[in-house]
Amino acid sequence: MTKKKKNVVIVESPAKAKTIEKYLGSDYKVVASKGHIRDLPQKKFGVDIEKDFEPEFELMPGKEKVVAELKKVTKGKKVYLAPDMDREGEAIAWHLSYLLGLDEDEENRIVFSEITKDTILEAIKSPKKIDDKKVGAQLARRILDRIVGYKISPILWRILKNYNTSAGRVQSAALKILVDRERAIFKFKPKEFYKIFLKYMDQDIPLVKINGKKYKKESINEKKKNEILKDLKETKFYIEKVEEKEAKRNPPQPFITSTLQQSAISKFGWSSKKTMQIAQKLYEGIETSDGPLAFITYMRTDSTRISEEAQKKAFNYLNENYGKEYTGHFKVKKSKKKIQDAHEAIRPTDVYIDPAKAKKLISGDNLKLYTLIWNRFIASQSSQSIYTEKIYTIMDASKKYTFEVVGRKRKFDGFEKFWSSSTGEKEYELPKSGELKNIELKTEKDETKPPSRYTEASLVKEMESKGIGRPSTYATIITTLLNRKYVIKEKSNLIPTLVGFIVSDLLEKNFPEIVDAKFTAHMEEKLDKIEIGETNWKSILSEFYKDFEKFLNTTEQKMKEKSLDFYYKSNIKCSKCNVEMELQFGRYGLFLKCPECGENKGLSKGILGVTIDNNVYLSEDNILPEKGKEEKTGDKCPECGGDLIIKSGRFGKFIACSNYPDCKYTAPLPARGKCPKCGSKVHKLKSKKGKIYFKCSECGEMFWDEPSDYRCPSCNGPLFYKKKNKEEMLYCPDEKKFFKESELNEL
Ligand SMILES: [Zn+2]
Ligand SMILES: [Zn+2]
Ligand SMILES: [Zn+2]
Ligand SMILES: [Zn+2]
Repeated sequence: MTKKKKNVVIVESPAKAKTIEKYLGSDYKVVASKGHIRDLPQKKFGVDIEKDFEPEFELMPGKEKVVAELKKVTKGKKVYLAPDMDREGEAIAWHLSYLLGLDEDEENRIVFSEITKDTILEAIKSPKKIDDKKVGAQLARRILDRIVGYKISPILWRILKNYNTSAGRVQSAALKILVDRERAIFKFKPKEFYKIFLKYMDQDIPLVKINGKKYKKESINEKKKNEILKDLKETKFYIEKVEEKEAKRNPPQPFITSTLQQSAISKFGWSSKKTMQIAQKLYEGIETSDGPLAFITYMRTDSTRISEEAQKKAFNYLNENYGKEYTGHFKVKKSKKKIQDAHEAIRPTDVYIDPAKAKKLISGDNLKLYTLIWNRFIASQSSQSIYTEKIYTIMDASKKYTFEVVGRKRKFDGFEKFWSSSTGEKEYELPKSGELKNIELKTEKDETKPPSRYTEASLVKEMESKGIGRPSTYATIITTLLNRKYVIKEKSNLIPTLVGFIVSDLLEKNFPEIVDAKFTAHMEEKLDKIEIGETNWKSILSEFYKDFEKFLNTTEQKMKEKSLDFYYKSNIKCSKCNVEMELQFGRYGLFLKCPECGENKGLSKGILGVTIDNNVYLSEDNILPEKGKEEKTGDKCPECGGDLIIKSGRFGKFIACSNYPDCKYTAPLPARGKCPKCGSKVHKLKSKKGKIYFKCSECGEMFWDEPSDYRCPSCNGPLFYKKKNKEEMLYCPDEKKFFKESELNEL
């Protein structure tokens, strides 16, 4: 019989459990909760605003078995809670403690920033009480997001008639950044300008100063260029001076979450989501020939701190393998943050596992990301690189015009042995003094460039610098924007869709704080303050809600009075009346309508367009071709790519291809509402016995009643179309209540 274990350690993931168990010895059993176990309810609001924002937590679906199992293995044992070290992990520990009926005052929470033998043994020796302040900060975030999502999303659904739209607190501020940039690109008008060089032995030496002053490159228009050329036509050019100096470059800081994501995105073309998934594996432990092994420290961090031991180890590694001159004097960049926690930068758990050794233990993407992290860390601990810079200054005889180039030659590589620097070497062959003969004046026409679109990498950088989001949320924010189709990714560029523009406009007009970067950043700071005990989550929530409720009431009042100013005039003209058509929100998506004759034009799905005030700019190729008077669904035939239309037949309406009889594709008519479970399209079907039923095209959920896009005014649950006394009403199955559609429209 195996020895009975006295202690049980609970972590989130099986991989992490395995790695930790290896270090704890036979007295400990390590089990996994498999992620989150308790959360706000899925089908209702779950926050009692009247009762001081009391949350109503529910076991997450499918977690009953996990909890029962955890209860069984922890019975009569000493329990240690070891979820990840951030707020989210603290909240998981708190939920676990509640579900397992543990003593709140017991010291049973252990935290560590890396899974190595020493840190795990150290952590288990000094458990602490669950940190209520940290839990509070996480509760506040969760409830804030719930309030914003639950209160604003139904408004979006009603206006846009699109169940797949939603408003997220932090995601909306990020969307606004993308929308603003796209608008700037749309409005941008390129300006022509000229570049002026001296050409000497195939080397281009640019004009940098006029009358001793740097000039704006756009200021050299054609007229100015001709003036300069006239000035310089007959003149001679002299080497004014050659300055030589030593330039030292500092090694980069070790990775934090945002810089890791930026590097992996630009070097490997990964998404921020993929980067985090692989980093998490490296942190939790990977099965190797030496057993499970954790390769890096915790991957969600905004601290560049490096522990003293890790610094010493890196020093020794560099000294032993590369020599004293490669060892550096690492200094942590001062951060503005008040929180002094145990977080460290992302670094290898053991710097002696260098890329060559790692190659024997891991492979593929794991090895790729580990090598990147190792190189960045060892570079951060290494010495400065040294360059010799030669600055050549050339002037015309009148000394009005200054031309300059800087040559660079590397004297010592230092940290660049591990991490290449952006500007490389370049040398020029120029005389040290005297007249520069055999030169040619050269001009080049160019134009100013529009601001570039954000990539995932530059958006993460922007969010970080604006204080929107935190290491734990950057990847989720981007994924949500893409999933909602508010943004598409083209090559690596992030482009907001027309729906993205409209959602952003709607929020900006009615809930300006939600899209405001400063407000969002300020909220993050407040959450930080909860964590350090300067305030508590209930007062942050009530402070937020006081303002939010005003906006909510105003918007709902406007909707009731049908005075919500929300319409767009398009740049597309009606082919009959030649007036600008207006954008409409229909059940099948966006379309254009002529205000004069009522003519409709369908728009393709996922359409791109730019809104500016009450105007929308679309390109002609987004407009679907007209065909007869049939009602178009806006979707394309999956078989031939033709337009799908709605036809009437013996068994009622159905969808058919407009290329009939060439294409015989047909499909059942979709229900009026989207699937209440997953938001996908629901099909109307007939059973063998002739009874009508509804089935979701994605998750397969079935309903006897037709789903609607309305939400219940009292519980916010989904409503279904159902007949009551021969009149069609909307029905809330949770509360068994009926509503009139006209009443709901008045709400
Ligand atoms: Zn018309
Ligand atoms: Zn077809
Ligand atoms: Zn579904
Ligand atoms: Zn209800």
